[in-house]
Amino acid sequence: MKKHNFSAGPCILPQDVFKEASRAVVDYNNSGLSIIEISHRSKDFVDIMEEARSLALELLGLEGKGYKALFLQGGASTQFLMTAYNLLQTKAGYINTGNWSDKSIKEAALFGDVVEIASSKKANYNHIPKGYKIPKGLDYIHCTSNNTIFGTQINDFPIADGPLVCDMSSDIFSRQLDFSKFDLIYAGAQKNMGAAGTTLVVVKEDILGKVERQIPSMLDYQLHINKASMFNTPPVFSVYTCMLTLRWLKKLGGISAIEEINEKKAKLLYSEIDLNPLFQGFTVEEDRSIMNATFTLLNEDLKETFDAMWKEAGINGLNGHRTVGGYRASMYNALSIESVAVLVDVMGDLERKA
Ligand SMILES: *Cc1c(COP(=O)(O)O)cnc(C)c1O
Repeated sequence: MKKHNFSAGPCILPQDVFKEASRAVVDYNNSGLSIIEISHRSKDFVDIMEEARSLALELLGLEGKGYKALFLQGGASTQFLMTAYNLLQTKAGYINTGNWSDKSIKEAALFGDVVEIASSKKANYNHIPKGYKIPKGLDYIHCTSNNTIFGTQINDFPIADGPLVCDMSSDIFSRQLDFSKFDLIYAGAQKNMGAAGTTLVVVKEDILGKVERQIPSMLDYQLHINKASMFNTPPVFSVYTCMLTLRWLKKLGGISAIEEINEKKAKLLYSEIDLNPLFQGFTVEEDRSIMNATFTLLNEDLKETFDAMWKEAGINGLNGHRTVGGYRASMYNALSIESVAVLVDVMGDLERKA
């Protein structure tokens, strides 16, 4: 039986993507060859890379606006240092909204001064800081749109004179934003886009070339742009799964269509969390993420019963991150509303039993 997969990442992808990708591993397009044994320089793979890059820009509404899409390696974690390597000359500003932001700050500090413009660390990141002042003279500002571990999401992004850089690993392609407000967006594939192994980078080309330091080839955005994201062997299978997911999303009606579904799923779960006296949300209401919902069970004595019940219902991946505890329901694009309804039913059953 197919599980209801609420895992935070690697996570659920559309069932059709799993099917098509597994067919391609055995035999790609009746070529008699697997997708993972053909040359990455072959027309078959170059077409896949080009389709993935152009679908990413198309879905974000960034075609013809000076942006380039790249599929790189090293995870979002490599982007923590790569952004700084390419953009940080003297001083950059960071909004610290969770563990991932904290890690990006640590990496950037190796390259120059980091100004922590705002932070919710003292409150164990249960909200998004607001009303902060942005200093002048920053090379760029970095923020994390969705905090996977804590379950908060930014709605009002910082407005700055310099470039805006955003880690969108866990909410890329999930909600409509004016993406042209951002100068560099990055996202590890394994949260909402494809198999682990590649990271999407969407960068406005004119922000590059402003730092004086020498940049090693593999960490140089400009070089990857010049080589059409094919400087070295790309993670072919991961890029292929991203391309299939982006095709699926386009067919479904794009980001605005999926956003409507994501809103419904989040509303269904959060209303149960709020109405059911046994549960409590972890974050402040106004900053709740529509991707990762974090909540706790108020009576620890019920934990064993609840855990047995959701496992029995075919649910997977509901345990919270060790720094938050409790539960985390990740509701990425491919998770159906029916899966959320199963979880809500289990929560209701627990209330009736208790
Ligand atoms: C998962 C995650 C990361 C780390 O991604 P890796 O690809 O494992 O390096 C970074 N930022 C956010 C917001 C994430 O959710």
